[in-house]
Formats: sequence, structure tokens, C-alpha cells
Amino acid sequence: MSGVPQSNPQKPQKTFYLETFGCQMNVHDSEKVVGTLLQEGYRQVETVEQADLVLYNTCSIRDKAEQKVFNRLSDYKKYKKQGKTFGVLGCVAQQEGEKIFERAPYVSLVAGSASYRNLPSMLAQLESATLEAGKSESRKPEAESLVRITGLDDRETDACFETEFTARTNPHRGYITIIEGCDKFCAYCVVPYTRGKERSRTSESVLAEARQMADLGYTEIQLLGQNVNSYKDSEGNSSATKTFAELLAAVGEVPGIRRVRFTTSHPRDFGPDIVDAIDAVPTLCDHVHLPVQSGSTRVLDAMQRLYTRDQYLERISWMKTAKREISITTDVIVGFPGETESDFAETLDLLDEVGYDAVFAFKYSPRPNTPSLKLEDAIPEEEKSRRLEVLMAKQREIQTIRYKKYIGTTCEVMVEGRNEPRAQWIGRTTHNKTLNFSAPPSANLKAGTYAPVRVTGSFPNSLLGELVI
Ligand code: SAM
Ligand code: SF4
Repeated sequence: MSGVPQSNPQKPQKTFYLETFGCQMNVHDSEKVVGTLLQEGYRQVETVEQADLVLYNTCSIRDKAEQKVFNRLSDYKKYKKQGKTFGVLGCVAQQEGEKIFERAPYVSLVAGSASYRNLPSMLAQLESATLEAGKSESRKPEAESLVRITGLDDRETDACFETEFTARTNPHRGYITIIEGCDKFCAYCVVPYTRGKERSRTSESVLAEARQMADLGYTEIQLLGQNVNSYKDSEGNSSATKTFAELLAAVGEVPGIRRVRFTTSHPRDFGPDIVDAIDAVPTLCDHVHLPVQSGSTRVLDAMQRLYTRDQYLERISWMKTAKREISITTDVIVGFPGETESDFAETLDLLDEVGYDAVFAFKYSPRPNTPSLKLEDAIPEEEKSRRLEVLMAKQREIQTIRYKKYIGTTCEVMVEGRNEPRAQWIGRTTHNKTLNFSAPPSANLKAGTYAPVRVTGSFPNSLLGELVI
């Protein structure tokens, strides 16, 4: 069941606060965790102060993200005295495991994403252990929690976190996980260690969820996975087994669904059939996020990305020959160990050659357990910062030119909300661009509706327009 489940009235009301860090996978995991907690009789609250149970769904993709969590945890002492229980979920939980109890002794629950299916039983254990600990409160060492529950799965787990109790935060646009984990082992990346091996859901269950969402009024679906292109429909009825491109097309054909997006694609597994599907099915959005990480084949090799610059550009050429204009976005890491000035210049050159509509650029961050930790020739922090700035400045110029081209065209947007101070509506185009626009009150717009908007102006990261009446 999708939508926002209500708290189960049969169970005593405890309150929880959940803060999410990181990627869309984490955001969607949190929606499932919230749904599970509501079903277990908890009520969600807006602040730590109001909550009995405080949960952080964490990200460890870069050191900065991990530090944010430990900063939050440093506030514990004050709150623990108020009788609150703390839990760490997600990638930092999986990566650090029981070491979290040493760094943050007030924590009672540590659960990696692959163990969320056991959340109801972990919550039950947590509640009864907290009750017991409450009785012996006077014997409790000041600084530590007596309750320690762990849910940590090894990399080999086959389990997916499928639940009928997803509490989606947006009533019009929702995520569906199609594949969990990752088997790519890029040299810099923690994901294969924190999210386990690749395991795909059946296309039958993905399509059933898409139909349910359409019945509930959702019109946009985003298919999620660390590498959606290696989706394998292993357990379904063999006559109905689908490739990723076929699944994408089938979701796009679910009655009521007007937009389908997907993320993230790995260039190694990205085939021309995906572009063919976009050509054939009008509901598939004109946008592909294809992370390149570096424009230098030498660096790509050191990163263990499994493709060369030329192979990456071949995939770009498939998209450029599509019937519709596909907007392309990417991720880049600057300052990977051994990245020379000339490697970096190749990345800058690639930005020009592809003409991206957005680039998410990061300074290389050494992560625990990853092979790149052993590489020599680390790039100094200041140099990474310089390269990041140069790259972002260049991309800003590219986007300034690219976004200008939309002026004078009409784009359909999904209305996302209203910016009252600016008296503007906020819309999103199929190309995944923000288009802020004006409309007369008589237009009767609402979040979740679709509207044609004429583009009248542009910025490097957004468009400006007016409703076509
Ligand atoms: N699975 C996706 C892929 O293959 O591109 C995305 C995974 S990750 C959540 C998103 C981005 O974070 C990556 O594309 C990469 O650019 C960046 N990233 C991952 N590990 C990093 C690291 N150690 N340092 C800096 N950036 C990193
Ligand atoms: Fe990380 Fe590479 Fe897997 Fe993406 S494909 S999640 S960057 S290991």
C-alpha cells in the first residue's frame, strides 16, 4: 500500500523524529521506515524535542556527510536526560556497526539499510529493552545507554526492503526501488560495502506498485537503484521477464502515469535500448543522468569505472541522435589520487563536448574499506578545491548558454508549489529543469497539476516563464 498510512490506533502512541541525509535512495528508504513506524503505532513529529525516538538515516558517501551525523549525535547528552532513545540507520550504521556505540554511547539502535525488513522486531526489542533499562535507571552509567540493538546484514544478503507501508511525502510524484545494492566496486565508493550486493525486484512487483500508485493519484514515478541498468528480472514468470528498458517502457504505459524518470545509470551497462524506449514511450522523461566521474580514460581506469572516455561518448551519441532532445546530467569527482593537470583538462574538455544541463561535482573523499585508499599521489585539499571551482565556473558558462535556448519555447511543467514572496509558481519540465512562472489567479493552479508555460527568461540553473492561457 502506498500513500500516507495512518498510525495504527490499536497500539500505544510513541513519537518519533526522523532526519534523512544523502541520496534519493535514502530519502525513499526513510519513506518506508516512516510507514513501518506508523504501522507499529508511532506518530511522526517535527522536532527532536517532541520525540521519544530520534532516528538519523545516514549517508557515508563522503566524509563530510558522515561528519554531519556525528555532529548531530554530539547533542545527545542534553536529550538523553529527557529520556529519548536514539537510533542510527543507513550507510554510516552499516559501515561503522557497533563502533557507533563507542563514538556515541547514547545510541540504542544501529541498523543498516539491508536490515530494515526486520525493523518491526527491532522496534519491539528496543521498546522492551528500554522499559527494562528504565527500571534500572539508577544503576545506569551517566554517559551510556543500556539498550543496544543492532541490525547489520553482511554484503551477501539477498533481502530487499519491500513494504506495503510506504509513507510517501509527495502525493503526486513517488519513488520505486527496482534494484538495491551495487556490484560495481568503483575504487572510491563505499556503496557496495554499505548497501550489499545487487538484488533486483521482479518486474511484476515493480509494476504492481506503479499501478497502485497510479490508482492513488500519482502521475510521476522515479525508478531508483544505484545502477538501474544492471536490473535483472530474475524471479518473475519467465515469459514476462523484462530488461531494464522493457520495465521502463512498461511503467511508462501504466494508465494514469504521465512521467517516468530513472536514476542512476552506470555507463558500462547503459544500452541503446534505453534511448529506443525513450523514443517510443512519450511518458518517459527527456532526461538521463549518466555519471562520468572523469573525462580521462587513465583516471577512469584507476577508478575502476569499466569504460573509457570514448565508450562514454558513444553512449552520449546514442542520446544525441534520439528523436526528442534528451537533457543529460552527470556526476564528476575532482582530485582523484594521481589526477594530473592534463587529466583534469580532459574532464573540462568533456563538459564542452557533451554539453551537460547539470553537473554534480565533488572533491574526492577517501572512504573506509575502498581500494583507492591505497593509491599514492593524493591531491592536496586546496588543489581539489581549486579544480572544483574551475569546473563549476566552466559548467556555469555552459548552462548559461544552454538554458538561454529555451527562451521563446513552451514547456509543459508539473506544478510543484508556489513561491509566495515572489508571487511565482514553481514547475518542473520533462528535462528536469526548474521553471518558475507567473499565472493569473483564475488559472486555479495546484501542486501536482500540469500546465503549459512559455519561457521568457533564463538563469544558469532555472528558467522563468508565464502560463500559456
Ligand atoms: N551509483 C551512482 C553512480 O554510479 O554514479 C551514484 C552513487 S553516489 C551516491 C553519487 C555520486 O557520489 C557518485 O556518482 C560520485 O560522483 C560521488 N562519490 C561517490 N564516492 C565518492 C567519494 N569517495 N568521493 C567523492 N565523491 C564520491
Ligand atoms: Fe558506487 Fe560505482 Fe556502485 Fe555507483 S556504480 S554505487 S559509484 S560503486
